[in-house]
Amino acid sequence: MKEKNNLIIAIDGYASSGKSTLAKDLARVLNYRYIDTGAMYRGVAFFAEKNNCFAEQGIDEDCLRKILQNIHLSFETVNGKSHLFLNNEDIEPFIRTMEIAGKASEVSAIGFVRKFLVAQQQQIGKNKRVVMDGRDIGTVVFPHADIKFFVEASLEVRTMRRFKELQEKNQKISYEEVEASLRERDLRDTTRAISPLKKAADAILIDNTTMTKEEQLSFSLSVINKKVK
Ligand code: C5P
Repeated sequence: MKEKNNLIIAIDGYASSGKSTLAKDLARVLNYRYIDTGAMYRGVAFFAEKNNCFAEQGIDEDCLRKILQNIHLSFETVNGKSHLFLNNEDIEPFIRTMEIAGKASEVSAIGFVRKFLVAQQQQIGKNKRVVMDGRDIGTVVFPHADIKFFVEASLEVRTMRRFKELQEKNQKISYEEVEASLRERDLRDTTRAISPLKKAADAILIDNTTMTKEEQLSFSLSVINKKVK
């Protein structure tokens, strides 16, 4: 049996499904590192936007290729929370908008961007004791992860959660706009040619539509406890 203090836990799922809440909770309880790979795609999108790589007719791939040579992403703890740093600058306050989420979904469909970030994610996972969340963690980044979860919830519940979250951050956006954005992102993420979002065959499905975050955590811990010592 595997040892509880030496695992890779992979969590995938739809936008705003509560996967990062679960990942953070598990990392806290198990004293593991939490890695938000969505933040890394958001970081690339943020830098691409800053460098005018989004042209009217679509993404300028040459521009994107160039900026990847000058991008250094890292996670640092700020006030007890994991923040994404880009070239040593804390960009966490800028990457949580719907606009950057949409742009992250666009850059994430590009093969060389995925290759660049997946290599970094695999490097981070070498030390184990990590909970990583995203769209392709159990399928591509760590196909041999010790524990895999696939998280989903109804579109209605996910929209309401994200809508409230954005309202709390004073972002002016309607419920309908949030719903349209999640729908569009899910469609792009599940239908892209490279590493589309899908449940790994050996992932445990968690539909948290009617679950509290405490219930979700205790269910996941019971799954982990059954698999490891
Ligand atoms: O998880 P989050 O919503 O922050 O992710 C932003 C976008 O980054 C997703 O919609 C998806 O397109 C992309 N992503 C990805 N693969 C990952 C993590 C995120 O394609 N492992």
